Amino acid sequence: KINIFWFRRDLRLEDNVGLHHALNSGLKVVPVFIFDTDILNHLEDKAEKRVDYIHKALDGINQELKSHSSALKTYHGNPLDIFKNLMNEFEIDTVFCNRDYEPQAIKRDDEVAGFLRKNGIRFSNFKDQVIFEKQDILKNDQSPYTVFTPYSKKWKESLGEIEVYSTDFSQFALLKGHNDILTLQDIGFKKTEIEFAKPTIEKKIVASYHQYRDFPAMDHTTHLGIALRFGTISVRTCVRFALENNETWLNELIWREFFMQILFHFPHVVNHCFKKKYEDIPWRNNEEEFKSWCEGKTGYPIVDAGMRELNETGFMHNRVRMITASFLTKHLLIDWRWGEAYFATKLLDYDLSANNGNWQWAAGCGCDAAPYFRIFNPEEQTKKFDKDLKYIKKWLPESYDQKPMVEHKFARERALETYKKALN
Ligand code: FAD
Repeated sequence: KINIFWFRRDLRLEDNVGLHHALNSGLKVVPVFIFDTDILNHLEDKAEKRVDYIHKALDGINQELKSHSSALKTYHGNPLDIFKNLMNEFEIDTVFCNRDYEPQAIKRDDEVAGFLRKNGIRFSNFKDQVIFEKQDILKNDQSPYTVFTPYSKKWKESLGEIEVYSTDFSQFALLKGHNDILTLQDIGFKKTEIEFAKPTIEKKIVASYHQYRDFPAMDHTTHLGIALRFGTISVRTCVRFALENNETWLNELIWREFFMQILFHFPHVVNHCFKKKYEDIPWRNNEEEFKSWCEGKTGYPIVDAGMRELNETGFMHNRVRMITASFLTKHLLIDWRWGEAYFATKLLDYDLSANNGNWQWAAGCGCDAAPYFRIFNPEEQTKKFDKDLKYIKKWLPESYDQKPMVEHKFARERALETYKKALN
């Protein structure tokens, strides 16, 4: 008999909770990754950088396992079908993995677990992706928090010692004839220019994060979003580092968990406003205007620079994400779900809970007390956060002479009136 460890959003060998438990289970462990066609078939762009990133991370894991005379087994298909095949290939005792809190992932895991149990195989999953999950942080009346500040206070109060989970390489099973992982071509994708290096936390960024994080030209944030998304870095490593070096950065990691628990407790947010009343907002949804926003042609330099950074790199600075999202939902009165979907296709660090939570925050329809009448003024934001226009100049060509597609004062009043009417 063997055990299986199923990699998903935890693409690393070190400090991996589920893997640690699998390796300490007394049986040899076969490490497995499934290129899930239920997810991949929905991706239109076959030169998808995030798939290439996953592939590179897996290749790194495989190389490391090879040096310990083991190997990663990769499959392409629907997880249920793959487990049916794995049952023929191995006598499996338990499938170990780490928990995922997105509605689709929960559904997938319930199906797989049910199928395995019917066949006498145990399914054992662990908390790895977050410090606190599900019901870990609740109000005194046992209901979930919907406001960040009290949530983060309780989060900090509840924090104990953060463990490190070791990896015992001698417990990996030796696999014959399966030394290479599937290629990108095997799964219908192409190589891209994305680079992969094992993520590290830069102390000089984190230590002064609170001073400089809001100035997009300084690019003074960690860019660890994609690593946290795919688990190529452990959140426990990040939180330990944050505790030692910078509380503001710790708060950002708590925001991540805050939105994850919102998604877990209120899965309706995937398609609907957290605050139901906001469903009544009559969005203008002008397709031409949406296109101009996507292409960075609104005539507001800070908005256009942000959209061009996103289109060119798959990243956008947080301050500018807030400005562009506010512009779309308030200035143009375009449904936040359109912007959310566009970001989802472009952001390398795309994460359902964070993207959804932040878009709803920008539109004012999310949890938290953010009032709808806070409408970012792009010019004021530029004066405060990019006064030398360094960021704008970096992303806009010299020939840029776009005229504003809508006047700020007019757009602001239109938004206020529309929201007020819908909500009263
Ligand atoms: P740092 O500033 O170094 O922060 C460290 C980590 O903390 C981030 O990598 C991320 O995991 C977490 N974090 C930071 N801010 C937030 C936040 N506001 N909410 C949740 N987690 C946070 N973040 C995503 O990870 N995925 C998304 O799809 C995403 N979409 C967003 C959409 C909009 C409209 C806005 C306003 C913000 C969005 N964010 C998203 C949050 C934030 O902008 C990014 O996490 C951050 O810019 C990533 O840069 P970084 O990795 O350098 O993060």
